[in-house]
Amino acid sequence: MDYLKNKFDVIVVGAGHAGCEAALACAKLGVKVLLCTLNVDNIALQPCNPAVGGPAKSTLVREIDALGGVMGEVTDATYLQMKVLNSSKGPAVRALRAQSDKAEYTRYMRNLIESNDNIYLKQCCITELLTENGKITGAVDEFGIQYSARAVILTTGTSLEGRIFVGLRSYSAGRLGEKAAIGLSASLHKLGIVTKKLKTGTPARVDKRTIDYSKMTIQPGDEELSFFSFKPNRPIRKTCPCYLTRTTEETHAIIRANLDKSPMYQGLIEGVGPRYCPSIEDKIVRFASNPSHHIFIEPEGLGTYETYIQGFSTSLPADVQEKMIRSLPGLENAHIVKPAYAVEYDYVPAVQTTHSLMSKTVNGLFFGGQINGTSGYEEAAAQGLIAGINAFNYLNGSEMLELSRSSSYTGTLIDDLVTKDIQDPYRMLTSRSEYRLLLRQDNADERLTPIGHKIGLIDDEQFERFNNKQRLIQDEKNRLDGLKISANEETNTILAKYGQHLDRGIRASELLKRPDISYKIIQELDESTRELNIPKEVYEQIEVIVKYDGYIKRQQEQVDQAGKLEKFKIPEDIDYSKIEHISSETKEKLAKIQPKTLAQAARIGGVKPADISILMVMLDRNSVARK
Ligand SMILES: Cc1cc2nc3c(=O)[nH]c(=O)nc-3n(C[C@H](O)[C@H](O)[C@H](O)COP(=O)(O)OP(=O)(O)OC[C@H]3O[C@@H](n4cnc5c(N)ncnc54)[C@H](O)[C@@H]3O)c2cc1C
Repeated sequence: MDYLKNKFDVIVVGAGHAGCEAALACAKLGVKVLLCTLNVDNIALQPCNPAVGGPAKSTLVREIDALGGVMGEVTDATYLQMKVLNSSKGPAVRALRAQSDKAEYTRYMRNLIESNDNIYLKQCCITELLTENGKITGAVDEFGIQYSARAVILTTGTSLEGRIFVGLRSYSAGRLGEKAAIGLSASLHKLGIVTKKLKTGTPARVDKRTIDYSKMTIQPGDEELSFFSFKPNRPIRKTCPCYLTRTTEETHAIIRANLDKSPMYQGLIEGVGPRYCPSIEDKIVRFASNPSHHIFIEPEGLGTYETYIQGFSTSLPADVQEKMIRSLPGLENAHIVKPAYAVEYDYVPAVQTTHSLMSKTVNGLFFGGQINGTSGYEEAAAQGLIAGINAFNYLNGSEMLELSRSSSYTGTLIDDLVTKDIQDPYRMLTSRSEYRLLLRQDNADERLTPIGHKIGLIDDEQFERFNNKQRLIQDEKNRLDGLKISANEETNTILAKYGQHLDRGIRASELLKRPDISYKIIQELDESTRELNIPKEVYEQIEVIVKYDGYIKRQQEQVDQAGKLEKFKIPEDIDYSKIEHISSETKEKLAKIQPKTLAQAARIGGVKPADISILMVMLDRNSVARK
């Protein structure tokens, strides 16, 4: 009953997407967790778009699931629609996106948290961190109550010293309706940890009953459902569509006429905003020649009339927002339930943490999510999971889990954060990975489930299911290699429907290599394939492996090649200031980031390839100066 003495193993600060994954990972691994959050009714809240997944992000969700995290399960249990984006494009960019029921998502996650006996949930604001001899020992809340723990994970989102802007008015808040977390930044500064400012924004929500959908284009979800989690028992739910409208000449004119009322354009916000999610005023200024922008109208849940206006985030004043929204076709009579706003907040540049997400200066202090300079629920959840796993490893003196760039988007994301001095909110994009054909959403389990099982987050039952699936993929691929499709009349009648023809017999796997031939067509052509009734997730992976065989092998060779630099370890005690013949900019960057390998050093922005060559020679000769 250590909780009676406020004694825990781990304190997780924040029950957002990162905090929930961190707390559940630690708790499932068997340690006692205090989960503090500003409002227990806002657990895993989606303060921006009611959606999970999409390009690159869907791969993160699948990776979280493959490692034993929960985001995939919660999304599958609470979707309003599922859609595979880029389904006609290559497998590296195919992405599942779920429209979420926001309230149900929160409820489902809260239930997961509350049904775990190792988690103690508490509504409070952590204002101070406690340390002894460079190690974390606990935290203090706003009422002065002290909690002790050997590890603390900070997942504070947009709350640290948060300030909300609606036009030129601003007030202290982390997000609409929730106070800011005041005090913790100052405590971090005392520990020598630097914070900087970022900003993000969200659009208004309008009342569904005041929208004329007949003027918009309907955007239904997929009829054949796909899911995020690799686990079985996928719920079939009532779905609902989204709609598409566009900005008009009038919208652009209203925005241009009111730019002087924008806190961004008046310089009231110093934090940098998300480059890939600009506000509508940014879009209109930056892409002035574009006469119209797409605006998606997305439901927030089955039990609410609140509706999200995607693509219309703004920090212009509330009265201007009314005019802007009512200039959109179908929204002429819209009633605004919640205004759009921007929020500026403190983050901790992640160059101050290692790949394990532990602070370089305070042992046992971990960071995950938006506090590391990212933006997005999926990015946050992936980091939260890794921070949680590593807090557990730290407590047990076990080796830290540091995922490589070639293993996952999660590894790529963390490597980018800790290596590159990121200046604007970081969002995962497929283009950030040099191995994107290997790191697909369909094979996340193949890449990470053995790791999740070894850690203890994937149970034996799920691991057996995973092994059976891998076996089935291999067996079916081998069978297709041996299966002959004859070039007879029956075959060519079927193939003609797809604009295909066979002059002579061919192996099924050879036929499947053709761009227009799917596994379903092989089923149509061959009775034995039909009878096997191979599940979708298995045959989809076979299609990718067969069709992209050459590309996949080439990318694997690149991984092996890069592995050589990755194996070139850099000792921790190098004195970069004493290394001759390399530029002072490189010295400064290397000293700040302290890369662990030559490959990581080469990825640091501003480090010159020639300097890396010099460093390599010196490391090889063991002639670098040590501290
Ligand atoms: C206005 C707005 C606009 C956004 N726009 C976008 C967007 O366009 N695209 C996008 O991808 N993402 C957007 N996001 C970001 C998205 O919400 C976050 O990326 C995601 O929620 C981050 O997850 P997290 O777990 O790091 O933090 P959050 O989900 O924010 O959770 C942080 C949690 O920490 C708690 N907390 C904070 N400080 C303390 C403390 N000291 N003590 C106790 N508890 C504390 C809070 O109560 C909260 O529960 C937006 C967020 C906001 C608020």
